Amino acid sequence: MRIIQTIAELRQWSREARRAGNLIGLVPTMGALHAGHLSLVHAAKAQCGRVAVSIFVNPTQFGPTEDLAKYPRTWDADCAALEAEGVDVVFAPVPEEIYRPGSSTFVEVEGLGSRLDGQSRPGHFRGVATVVAKLLIAAEPDRAYFGQKDAAQVAVLRRMVADLGLPVELKICPIVREPDGLAMSSRNRYLSAEERQRALVLRQAIDAVAASIAGGERDSEVLKAVARANFADQPSVQIDYIAAVDWATLLPVAIVAPGTLFAVAAWVGETRLLDNFIAP
Ligand code: AMP
Repeated sequence: MRIIQTIAELRQWSREARRAGNLIGLVPTMGALHAGHLSLVHAAKAQCGRVAVSIFVNPTQFGPTEDLAKYPRTWDADCAALEAEGVDVVFAPVPEEIYRPGSSTFVEVEGLGSRLDGQSRPGHFRGVATVVAKLLIAAEPDRAYFGQKDAAQVAVLRRMVADLGLPVELKICPIVREPDGLAMSSRNRYLSAEERQRALVLRQAIDAVAASIAGGERDSEVLKAVARANFADQPSVQIDYIAAVDWATLLPVAIVAPGTLFAVAAWVGETRLLDNFIAP
């Protein structure tokens, strides 16, 4: 497994691999890898001849009061896991490789970028769209892999790729969960044992909504109330948002239809967690 730190070397690797007849898969991550990340790697390995995984804790997607400095970094374990998966390249640039001194160009997905997490975390999706655009331009992959766990991010990136006409196919992989149902996240390691228990309320709320939809309920206000009722038992968990939205636009819908995104974000202590469900 090759470790690459510069854009020039990554692009050269990608072009040579394509000339040799391979499809190139890219899996962007911020490291602190878990089975959710590795599910994206599995999908990429199954569908592409060569796979690169980027590990880059992107400073521009963190707000000034957020956890950039303490974001978990587990480089050795990450590399061991990726090597075991048969990954070809780990792209691990220093921040100055991605944001050259004086860098002043950003990608802003208007509207979408300020909804859901973009509303709670101003500037977050501008940072995400910018870094993903830069990674796609650097690696020139045929396919790039993202998790449904960050469903609003998926909507923003789909829009960006369509609007910029980037020649890449986005592949979205299902949410990987802990055995008790908590959606895997690098931030779960921030949780104390007690918070870890309380965090299950996100999954319970999502399950209750899924069951109501399966039972025929379609009114998004009723479904949001079902989700909220679960949080009522857990007053120490603060709801950030509960939303039923069109997955393409992230705008609220009154009636849940197939493909509607039902998403929750909540604070468990200092840790903000996400979960969601796509209506069948
Ligand atoms: P991150 O390192 O948190 O930026 O995540 C990198 C990629 O892994 C993103 O596309 C995430 O949506 C995806 N991901 C994170 N957690 C999960 C999960 N539990 N299941 C599936 N994909 C995930």
